[in-house]
Amino acid sequence: MPARLRNSRAASTWTSIRRRGASVFASAAAVRVNRAIGDAVRGKPDISAAAALPKDLREWAGTVNSALGPFATGKDLENLSALDLGMMAQRDGASMCRQGLGTLMAKLGASLTVALSTPVTRISWSGRDAQLETASGTVTAKAVIVTASTNALLSGKMKFTPELPKRQQDAMNKLSLGSYDHIALELPGNPLGLAKDDVMIEQSNDKRTGMLLANLGGSSLCQVDVAGSFGAELSARGEAEMRAFAIEWLTKLFGADIAGTVKRSRATRWNDVPYVLGAMSAASVGGQPMHRVLMEPLGCMFFAGDAVHETQAGTVGGAWESGERAADAALRRLGVLKSLPSDTPARPPRARTPREAASSSPPEQRGGLNWPSRN
Ligand SMILES: Cc1cc2nc3c(=O)[nH]c(=O)nc-3n(C[C@H](O)[C@H](O)[C@H](O)COP(=O)(O)OP(=O)(O)OC[C@H]3O[C@@H](n4cnc5c(N)ncnc54)[C@H](O)[C@@H]3O)c2cc1C
Repeated sequence: MPARLRNSRAASTWTSIRRRGASVFASAAAVRVNRAIGDAVRGKPDISAAAALPKDLREWAGTVNSALGPFATGKDLENLSALDLGMMAQRDGASMCRQGLGTLMAKLGASLTVALSTPVTRISWSGRDAQLETASGTVTAKAVIVTASTNALLSGKMKFTPELPKRQQDAMNKLSLGSYDHIALELPGNPLGLAKDDVMIEQSNDKRTGMLLANLGGSSLCQVDVAGSFGAELSARGEAEMRAFAIEWLTKLFGADIAGTVKRSRATRWNDVPYVLGAMSAASVGGQPMHRVLMEPLGCMFFAGDAVHETQAGTVGGAWESGERAADAALRRLGVLKSLPSDTPARPPRARTPREAASSSPPEQRGGLNWPSRN
């Protein structure tokens, strides 16, 4: 059965689950789950987010798992740090861009000089300056900001001389990417009968499930998202199987007539994109402090990206803010910014402590975990 999400900036994804006759239970479950995650991380060693959940969520257990795990972070709750999930409750609320987030990013960066399709194969970073090797030649720089994803860095396509310290390599392993893909279907005439940008998830205990974003920006495009371990398995089988799953899933939820209304389709397969190799970064058990490890400069080299943020990990906003912090730190190294001591970030992270995160305003009253959904 589909469960509709009506999100506002003030509600987390799954606190907004509505289903006739069940919304009261869902809301109560949401409060209990937020509290349980807070209790699990308060002053105790980190555990998996799955282990932190209440055990009596009954028919909502699968829905809570999907909404908090794969559809919010790209990872199953079993592979996710409860502490990191608790910190993510501070994520900014979701907002939609009709032209697509990529278009917005390209516009924001339009004035920058960018060399596309020029992979860096090696960074030599031990000297005063760094050398970046590419097939088009070597670039020498006084400061380098590395924004490749943790999975791309772990793949070894970009080598480092000297090798990255174990501390940084361990941090990247703990902050690996999850899996998240869109299967876009053209459904002219709104056969699902949903509103613009309506978000629906299924009430199901099966990991073989999706999340629907209907009528994107008022168009006839509908998007079935697949994520976590199921999403990774499905995307590995290729685009035809992804389309088949999306149609089968919509047919189960909305009736057999839907299959005949689907026109064109297209699916992303981010795990196979060689310089990305996954979706957003999220910490495995014990990995929450590693966001800060990646904020440490290594000589003239700085890291940025969605793994390098203590509360907004796995989001464009987190990646952007981490880039601004790294740019400030690099400018300070170059002597352009002088106001702060050189070994501290120019914009110190304003993360709350785990205790604050768990015990101040209730997580369900913050924007938390809701970027895939509509405002
Ligand atoms: C399907 C999907 C939907 C998502 N939806 C949302 C959403 O709605 N909202 C949201 O906030 N987040 C969303 N995310 C997460 C968001 O896309 C990421 O958090 C964000 O892209 C991370 O940005 P980044 O700059 O850290 O890394 P990336 O986007 O991975 O950028 C790193 C860049 O480095 C380049 N690179 C890698 N290796 C090299 C090399 N050797 N040489 C040169 N360049 C290299 C890559 O080509 C890439 O362009 C989504 C992710 C996915 C997969």
